[in-house]
Amino acid sequence: MKNTRCCPKCGSTHLLRIPDDAHRYLANSIPMTTGAWVKRVPVTRYVCTGCGYVENWVEGGMEALKRHFQ
Ligand SMILES: [Zn+2]
Repeated sequence: MKNTRCCPKCGSTHLLRIPDDAHRYLANSIPMTTGAWVKRVPVTRYVCTGCGYVENWVEGGMEALKRHFQ
């Protein structure tokens, strides 16, 4: 959906990009806890306004995620 700019469920092209706010308490980000530190990787959502389908994309911090979870 992010790359095709078209909803895979209903075919609509009316999409919204909702950036994550990693500083908000209930953000969509992925927490990585290391000792006393929590680092958050932001997750951007793409929402189809035709049917409500949502895709989640990590758009940065991929290297940190791989280091933490692999
Ligand atoms: Zn849709």
